[in-house]
Amino acid sequence: APPAPAPPPARHLFSDPAEVEALRGSLLAWYDRCKRDLPWRALAATEPDANRRGYAEVANAAGSGTGVPGGALPALWLSINTRLCLSEQEVNELWAGLGYYSRGKRLQEAARKVVSELAGQMPRTAEDLQKLLPGVGRYTAGAIASISYGQATGVVDGNVIRVLCRLRCIGADSSSPSVIDRLWDMANVLVDRSRPGDFNQALMELGATVCVPKAPLCGECPVKQHCQAWRRVEKELAFASQKLFGKPPPVPDVEDCGVGDCPLCPPAMEPWDSSLGVTNFPRKVAKKPPRTMRTATCVLEQRGCHGAPEYLIVQRPSSGLLAGLWEFPSLPLAQDLQEEKEREKLADHLQAWMGQPVAAKGLQFIGEVIHIFSHIHQTYVVYSLHLDGDVTLNPALSPCRWVTEEEFHSSAVSTAMKKVLKAHEKHRRKESSPVKGSKRKRGAKAQGAGSTCPGIQLSLRAFLRAPTAP
Ligand code: SF4
Repeated sequence: APPAPAPPPARHLFSDPAEVEALRGSLLAWYDRCKRDLPWRALAATEPDANRRGYAEVANAAGSGTGVPGGALPALWLSINTRLCLSEQEVNELWAGLGYYSRGKRLQEAARKVVSELAGQMPRTAEDLQKLLPGVGRYTAGAIASISYGQATGVVDGNVIRVLCRLRCIGADSSSPSVIDRLWDMANVLVDRSRPGDFNQALMELGATVCVPKAPLCGECPVKQHCQAWRRVEKELAFASQKLFGKPPPVPDVEDCGVGDCPLCPPAMEPWDSSLGVTNFPRKVAKKPPRTMRTATCVLEQRGCHGAPEYLIVQRPSSGLLAGLWEFPSLPLAQDLQEEKEREKLADHLQAWMGQPVAAKGLQFIGEVIHIFSHIHQTYVVYSLHLDGDVTLNPALSPCRWVTEEEFHSSAVSTAMKKVLKAHEKHRRKESSPVKGSKRKRGAKAQGAGSTCPGIQLSLRAFLRAPTAP
């Protein structure tokens, strides 16, 4: 067997039990004094039902950083108590426009599994949570197990990475699996045995409020005495001031471990930069540029029975980007396609939906809409087409339905599609002559699995409002 890798130098570890004890005490005392009043903390502290506590933490972890409105996540974890699983459609509607569709979907799958396969009982340890619940990764499992069930297990999120890298001068790429593993080891060593949930929240809170990315408040930091990055900055300041007064300078004793062979120090080519101070850590690694994509999309419009416009939306496949969401009929395009070819391809695509010829020149160009997903720079080339007369949609294709503008906005459509509709409306307002209405009968329009019946949305809203309605 290959020899085990040598342990990292002591300056990157928490190997002194007395120091670990002191750090825990300082951090928890600060947390007790300064913690923010966050709604889920009250829930974690006061909710007597262990399953509700646990699932609330799943929902919290899944929603962190997403801007998900307060009502959506409790509504999801209500599934656990009511034993009523929301449908994928309903979950998509809750999360629509927030850009985190797959999280909402996985949260729903986890709820479904707890309800249907685990007899409504949340797993209680980090290992079981990660193993048994879809979408529950190492961080979420650690957070639930420590905060809701008191297991002495650490957590590592973006805030914790930053704090630990500064505490222990870790300048190697903090997104690399080997460094991440070291940080998990460290978090597991540090976590307080009697108050693990509070300790983990304190470490995350420190990163969110004091040890912030750009201008950390080291002067107010409760653990600065244990922080190697801060000590290095202090030594440099002392060194500089002694030099200024002509005193013999002491030799700084907080240099990097060695040149090039420490797996946790900054790379030899990018040494400590005094002008950055503690923000030398964690080391930023250049992000990959987003992939660029072009997609042709068409706002297909007809007049509804009251003369108001209605639009055709179709459902995306149940996996991949924007899984299960609804959109205007769209078609990915090759990057270097001529406009004429784009139109032709889009016309062919629409023809498949509508089962009748669509003339490429009948497509009106509206403009381009750019939307940035986390890893994709997407350009939608927007066209529109007004339909007159009956159209029989092809039910063999994906689900599709006609929706009014109001229904469009309450459907599970992405933010990008809302931008597309906005561009279309703006274009229409600019046009001087009004569009002639269609005589198409309403009775022939709903096709596929979808429906324009507003009852679906109403019943969902009623369900969500029920627990808080006065
Ligand atoms: Fe972060 Fe500064 Fe505290 Fe160190 S002393 S942990 S760098 S805030």
